[in-house]
Amino acid sequence: MAASKQAFDALFDAEPALRDVPYDHPVHKLDEAGLAQWVTAWMAGVRAGAADEHLRQAMVAPRMLCARCHGHGRLWAGRPYRNERAWDASAACPGCGGAGAVATPAPAAAAVAVDGAARACEDGGVGGFAGPVVPDGG
Ligand SMILES: [Zn+2]
Repeated sequence: MAASKQAFDALFDAEPALRDVPYDHPVHKLDEAGLAQWVTAWMAGVRAGAADEHLRQAMVAPRMLCARCHGHGRLWAGRPYRNERAWDASAACPGCGGAGAVATPAPAAAAVAVDGAARACEDGGVGGFAGPVVPDGG
């Protein structure tokens, strides 16, 4: 993004007469077309991200086995194994409240954050919000 804007600045520096052309001039249409391409690429990324999240939700069960009690819902002497030392002395599992299953946690925030959203002004002048850094001319 910044590379495109800086190229336009260089163009206006090289051809100062372009600074005074009306907004329907082809040079402005070219700028608008570049922005439209950028927005289109951005929206394609949003759609791809939404599709990925939809697939993730379809493939991940909403509830998972409680790792603390291994699905028993109870602990024996603090452990998920019923044994002779604590055969009858069990307590409800504090991890799942006795249900044996817990809600599947959401993915970590870092895994779903839109890459680059926080570095829009820290990207060394490349510009943009997401996606790989494209070298000049890319
Ligand atoms: Zn449990």
